[in-house]
Amino acid sequence: MNNASTELKHFMSGLRKRNPGEAEFHQAVEEVAMSLMPFILDHEKYYKARILERLTEPDRIIIFRVCWEDDLGNLRVNRGYRVQFSNCIGPYKGGLRFHPSVSLSILKFLGFEQIFKNSLTTLPLGGGKGGANFNPKGKSDREVMRFCQSFMTELTRHIGADIDIPAGDIGVGAREIGYLYGQFKRLNNRHTGAITGKGFDYGGSLMRPEATGYGCVYMMREALSHEGDDLENKSCLVSGSGNVAQFCAEKLIQLGARVLTMSDSGGTIYDPDGINEDKLMWIKELKNSRRGRIVEYAKQFPSAEYLEGKRPWAIPANLAFPCATQNEIEADDAKALISNSCRAVCEGANMPSTKEAIDLLQAAKVTFVPGKAANAGGVAVSGLEMTQNSMRIHWSAEEVDQRLLGIMQNIHRKCVKYGNDGDYIDYVKGANVAAFSKIADTMLAYGVI
Ligand code: GLU
Repeated sequence: MNNASTELKHFMSGLRKRNPGEAEFHQAVEEVAMSLMPFILDHEKYYKARILERLTEPDRIIIFRVCWEDDLGNLRVNRGYRVQFSNCIGPYKGGLRFHPSVSLSILKFLGFEQIFKNSLTTLPLGGGKGGANFNPKGKSDREVMRFCQSFMTELTRHIGADIDIPAGDIGVGAREIGYLYGQFKRLNNRHTGAITGKGFDYGGSLMRPEATGYGCVYMMREALSHEGDDLENKSCLVSGSGNVAQFCAEKLIQLGARVLTMSDSGGTIYDPDGINEDKLMWIKELKNSRRGRIVEYAKQFPSAEYLEGKRPWAIPANLAFPCATQNEIEADDAKALISNSCRAVCEGANMPSTKEAIDLLQAAKVTFVPGKAANAGGVAVSGLEMTQNSMRIHWSAEEVDQRLLGIMQNIHRKCVKYGNDGDYIDYVKGANVAAFSKIADTMLAYGVI
């Protein structure tokens, strides 16, 4: 057998050849393969069974046309996708993303990550992801509704409570889930938990909206507490201003930390006085109801500065929470965080840090918790929504929150168990190895399929 770096090179060159031009997918697989290869070579049964080769080939990919009519009566065409990556340990589970940047590469990277994230939750959830290159920005409610109905008209035949359970992601929030689920119910004449993130009145779980952001802060609290520290008075950089960022900021404020920034694709607002509960409420109204831009915050609150076209990472702070999108922390951003003595990064988004950035942060011994561990709270509560749907009951917010906390603490424990390199916890390795073993053993149990 070759050594780990030769084996990795060989594996990655095959993967690149089989999936040409899919840069984000290559990136996500490489991060996982790098930390898993030594483990796989130590366990010949995984190597011989070609687990990594099999796991990087999706079970199936569905690509379809989505036709809809805009408010002016123009016919519009988008491309819809569902990547059903692995249903090894449970039905396919993962969000839908509506964003102009959506491509097969993006959805394969997200679907691949989802397999590992979902395994970490300990719930019976496989991995999948879907979406469309549709841009909800600037569209009327009715246009979004017509798009969602057309999208679901095709998707419906591929999903179901025991088959594949989509949810939200970037561009798919409460409004879109309502339209998607309404159409699913209408087409199937069936009210089942085939989508999560539903409104509470029609089968949603309390705490699902909060879950990803709260979970990310719980993870940071665990990581700090492992180092004998806490969140009290810590200055925090949060990027994004969507669902994950809003509830990440909310929990940070509740736990006594100071949130200095939030952002959107136009730029960053930096409020040295801190974003308090009232200001955050204003942001929620701006983003969720008025669907406005974050620049308006700086006009509303004179204590804040608007950094046009900039990300938050150059501002000195103790902690960083990238909650916007993939590759938003690049090498230079990581250098800025390090030179400002940032001590920990917890990823609320999926793959927000590039490989170069992760290498720099880890080399500088900045505590770094990757998205598949840090943002697993969202899909975990989706799993709890499925359980409540099956049982036809609703748990209280306290009950769900307690379960969420327990799941995040358990993920933290597993990362420490498998990623403890002496004086530094390698959360990337810990999360990957912990998630992988369970999937790999199940694949061995199933034989050659
Ligand atoms: N899109 C979220 C994620 O990246 C949630 C998925 C879900 O709830 O199924 O994990």
